[in-house]
This record gives sequence, C-alpha cells and structure tokens, in this order.
Amino acid sequence: MEKPLKELKRVRLTTGVISTATLERTKDGTDYKLIVRKSTKLSPPGADLPQDAGPIELELKSANTGSELTSQAKELVSYFFKRFHKVEKSYPTSKAINQAISLISNHGVDQARYVVDFAHIAAQDTGFKIETFGGIMDYTSRAVADYDKHQKARQTQTAIDACSFCNRAGFVSLRILKDGKWSHSSAKCTHDVEQMRAVAENQGYQIV
Ligand SMILES: [Zn+2]
Repeated sequence: MEKPLKELKRVRLTTGVISTATLERTKDGTDYKLIVRKSTKLSPPGADLPQDAGPIELELKSANTGSELTSQAKELVSYFFKRFHKVEKSYPTSKAINQAISLISNHGVDQARYVVDFAHIAAQDTGFKIETFGGIMDYTSRAVADYDKHQKARQTQTAIDACSFCNRAGFVSLRILKDGKWSHSSAKCTHDVEQMRAVAENQGYQIV
C-alpha cells in the first residue's frame, strides 16, 4: 500500500492537492480505510473554496491488505463455532479474528485447523469447556507437535506406497544361503532400488 499512497499524494485535484493519505484500520479491525486530507494551499488564485473541507474517508476493499488472511481467519473462527458450539452461523469478534490471524500466520491454515480439531478432542477427553476461540490457543504447541508426527508418518507411508520394491511395512525380504540352508531376513527399504540391490548382493543376500 506504500507506493500507491505516495502516488496518491501527488494527485492534483481541481480544488487543491491531497496533503496526506493514510491507511487506518477500521474499528472492528477487519478492514482498512483510507483517510485522505485535502489541502487548498496550491489552489489557483481566486479559487473561492473553503480552506479545509475536512478529511475524506474512503472505505477500501482490503484487496492488498491481507484480505486473504482475514477471510481465512474468519473461516477458521466459524469452523471453531461449528465444532465447539454446533452453530452454522456465527458472528466472530475482532479479538477472535486476530487470534485466528496470528495462529494462521504462525502455523499455516492446515495446522491452524488441526489445532481446532485437536483442542476439540482434548477438551472432550478432559471435560474442559472451551467457550471462546482463544480457549483453543493453549493447545497450539501440543497440536502442532502432534500434526508434525502424523505428517511424518503420512510422508513415510506415501514413500512406501510409491515404491514397488518393499512391502506395505516398508521392508524388503531377503534370504542368504548358509551351510546349504536358506536363512530369511528382512531389511528396511530406502526406496532406492538400485542401492538396495547393490547392498544386498554385496553381502551375499538374495532379494525374495
Ligand atoms: Zn521401498
């Protein structure tokens, strides 16, 4: 918003110039408004206009001012109301929206949503009542740790699924001939087929 505001300041009006243009948050904190002050100092001589017409307020659609984050935050708060209070329509306070914004900025949308889910389950287990969105914030670090753990497990499983070499547990079956008898064993797959084959053969194993 910096650059457009500077450009706006240079705009010459028919009745003067814009002396200041500042962006301010609206009272509810969810949007911005542009405050433009007009100066008639540079008006052509003879222009009989009031010296100060007062600030002109323009409501901005906050397209470039984090509107996506704000709408994600609103969505997250209404998701909270759906889960905790079973209401479809909710009227989030600016406090709740700001808390949601900080949660999303710090951890991303997916993890923020996970915090809501995690807090919901945890609260049910302990019988603890969470009334406001802020109540879930205490669960953030535990929820994020839990999310990371599951994320790791999901990534491991995806790698196993994509590998044609190992079984569903991510292991490769091997056998080795010892004293005329086959001895079986298994090895954790690295999902690098060439490497796995080379290592196995090197140690006298056959891949089953
Ligand atoms: Zn594998």
